[in-house]
Amino acid sequence: MEIIVAPSAGFCFGVKRAVNMAIDAAEQCSPPEKLNTLGPIIHNPQVVKALEEKGVFSIDCVDDDDYDYNTLLIRSHGVKAEIMEKLKHRGLKIIDATCPFVKKAQNYIKEAASKGYFIIMVGDKNHPEVQSVISFADKNKFLVINNNADLKNVPVSEKLAIISQTTQDVSFYKRIIEEISKIAKNETLVFDTICDATMIKQEESKIIASNVDVMIVVGGYNSANTNKLQNICKEIQKNTYHIETEDEVFPEWFANAGKVGITAGASTPDWIIERVLKRIHDIDGAYKKLSL
Ligand code: SF4
Repeated sequence: MEIIVAPSAGFCFGVKRAVNMAIDAAEQCSPPEKLNTLGPIIHNPQVVKALEEKGVFSIDCVDDDDYDYNTLLIRSHGVKAEIMEKLKHRGLKIIDATCPFVKKAQNYIKEAASKGYFIIMVGDKNHPEVQSVISFADKNKFLVINNNADLKNVPVSEKLAIISQTTQDVSFYKRIIEEISKIAKNETLVFDTICDATMIKQEESKIIASNVDVMIVVGGYNSANTNKLQNICKEIQKNTYHIETEDEVFPEWFANAGKVGITAGASTPDWIIERVLKRIHDIDGAYKKLSL
């Protein structure tokens, strides 16, 4: 069997930065100081568990005034503008690991909103990054859309500013922009906020999925960018499997496979990819690694 691993598989720049900031902060943190993250540091249960072993736990919200932490780390997705304001007033030590690309998107929205644009964000309204970015819009002038059916809610007479979640599927975002430009009756501003890491991952995954018999996508089931990769690969290669760990790899997948491709989401650490490779090696000890 031959194996091709996407060169971009695994942690992106923003995730690597946030995880390193959390590890550094955990190492410098000693009682009575207590470090928490606001939400899981990344969408990967194995990494979250590894941080918990270092004493860094995640909290879900900051509404409770009876809190016992004095340092709070903001993950790469960022946080809603109003929550950041609240935290500043508490006098906590804030470690802001918001990815610079997410910050850029927040700033674009802030500026467009100040100029009266109605913001259309293309993404998953329940995703923390979308919630953090869209919180910079005017509360009465934004819409999050995630499929063609949502287009009927676009206020076509408004000046529109369109922005995407950083991990959006590039082709889908282009299609939505085209559809909006057909119905918009006023000025339309488009921001290109899909980050390079996402585009490279998607491109490499497409190329690999087109050239293999089995495609494996490694990453958290709750990771938006991993799920996008899975959808992209599945459209090209029906034998695509999304797994979180090596325990979910089954020998029968490879019964008729000459070539196997592996890609991984932005929140998948290298050690999980290595374990998946080891598992495949245990199944077929003679496999050969090819480069893309
Ligand atoms: S996917 Fe892109 S925007 Fe999101 S954290 Fe990674 S580098 Fe930043």
